[in-house]
Amino acid sequence: MTKHIFVTGGVASSLGKGLTAASLGRLLKQRGLRVVIQKLDPYINVDPGTMNPFEHGEVFVTDDGGETDLDLGHYERFIDENLTRDSNATTGSIYSSVIAAERHGEYLGRTVQVIPHITDEIQRRIRMLTGEDVDVLITEVGGTVGDIEILPFLEAIRQFRLDVGPTNVCYVHVTLVPFIGPSGEHKTKPTQHSVTELRSAGIQPDAIVCRSDEPISDGLERKISRLSNVPFNGVVNCPDAGSLYEIPLVVHDEGLDQFVCDVLHLITDPPDLTEWRALNDRVARATTPVRIGLIGKYVSLVDAYLSVVEALNHAGIHHGADVDIDWIQAEDVEGLLGENRLRDLDGIVIPGGFGERGVEGKIAAAGFARENDVPCLGLCLGLQCMTVEFARNVLGLERAHSSEFDPSSPHPVIDLMESQRDVSDMGGTMRLGAYVAQLQPGSRVAEIYGTDVVSERHRHRYEFNPRYRPRFEGSGFVCSGESPDGRLVEFIELEGHPYWVATQAHPEFKSRPDRPAPLFREFIGAALERASGRNPQLIEVFAADDADVGADAVH
Ligand code: GLN
Repeated sequence: MTKHIFVTGGVASSLGKGLTAASLGRLLKQRGLRVVIQKLDPYINVDPGTMNPFEHGEVFVTDDGGETDLDLGHYERFIDENLTRDSNATTGSIYSSVIAAERHGEYLGRTVQVIPHITDEIQRRIRMLTGEDVDVLITEVGGTVGDIEILPFLEAIRQFRLDVGPTNVCYVHVTLVPFIGPSGEHKTKPTQHSVTELRSAGIQPDAIVCRSDEPISDGLERKISRLSNVPFNGVVNCPDAGSLYEIPLVVHDEGLDQFVCDVLHLITDPPDLTEWRALNDRVARATTPVRIGLIGKYVSLVDAYLSVVEALNHAGIHHGADVDIDWIQAEDVEGLLGENRLRDLDGIVIPGGFGERGVEGKIAAAGFARENDVPCLGLCLGLQCMTVEFARNVLGLERAHSSEFDPSSPHPVIDLMESQRDVSDMGGTMRLGAYVAQLQPGSRVAEIYGTDVVSERHRHRYEFNPRYRPRFEGSGFVCSGESPDGRLVEFIELEGHPYWVATQAHPEFKSRPDRPAPLFREFIGAALERASGRNPQLIEVFAADDADVGADAVH
């Protein structure tokens, strides 16, 4: 039978509840347990697909095309398992199901209410992910205890323990223990209040994870234990870590995984953390600087590009490099063209995006990278901008554009496919989730992936316009990957450029800390080469780190 861990958060949002859940997931997996993770989100959007990344962070896409909360990205990267769209349920999707059932007459005339109908549907979403092949389901409840919206979720998980029995459920509450400067002390009061709030919803936490800037004392943990009625070894301190990937080690050293296993009566060997420790060693040794310009539209909220940043970091870890991201507002690029800020970059990433703002800046960045031999990686909209730039400036196709941004362009080199034109529901036209691509044997991309068939995740409407393909291909522009039927261009590259590669997909979603997405891995490799060319003393460091990476790979 599947055991359940429910992770709630108190005091403040953005405490790293998702990372705590993901870290616990990894520890349990390393104990030989089969783990699935889920996020329940108390907002009314049916999924985060319609939410502005500037407000809510990136939309993470699963293999099966789910547009989900970015915490699912942390889960996948930490537990190294692909999740499905069912791992994310929002208030909106839960109400939609209940209202649809009501319209179908499924409630047989009864009054449909938050309790029991909404809470039953929440429980159904939780149960959906359980089964013979799942030992532990970790369910993170989004939002903060004390929010109005969270109440049905707390009620649903409270009832859950009653239904499945006390040894099958463990409640973990993540709170903040703030440091108050003038008094020079960490304060436990907010934690006490938040536990009281949780108890008033009928939930006594089994464990409390105290987030703090610096480690807190045993005395303080003891105080929290007494006041919250949680055993001392169930109070776990998780101070800010230097790297995300330290968190599993920190909470393991604090005994969280053992404590949770005890509550759930799970008997396992201690977790095998050899690989995870080796990863952390590599992170510590990743010090060769490499400067990557990320040409973004939402640069003031780094979470908007979370998976891209993580994939860059994974590639950096692989090469022993410390990736320093220069967040460049796309609209500013044209004004920066003659400036050192662009010249000093070792590589440029043009990420995905929607809407016209900043597109000309991204196109200008693509041209700058092409002309100056700067390694450039294009992701989705990035591929489209690199294609438009090439069409305008190499093929001489005046006003070439994507019909998303200029519907009257005489050269719509990026366009909707015929089959997509008549669909009035915008969501209905999106290409979402994993699609297979056939790579051109002998191409750079095929060499990078080390195979001819790859699957990457997609989230877009527009495509490379196949009508223009012959013109492009006669000019050093290689369509190096396409859909199996040959209709859609999936990867492009440029002959004779150190690294000018783009994909219509989002390979960042499948990157893992110990298995960087291949296009990112080689992009950072090319950027390091540029860095060492400009700064010869780096060559030695780079070579030494490469040897280390090789040594690790053997272990
Ligand atoms: N806006 C572009 C499209 O819909 C690119 C989308 C993206 O980058 N995810 O095709």
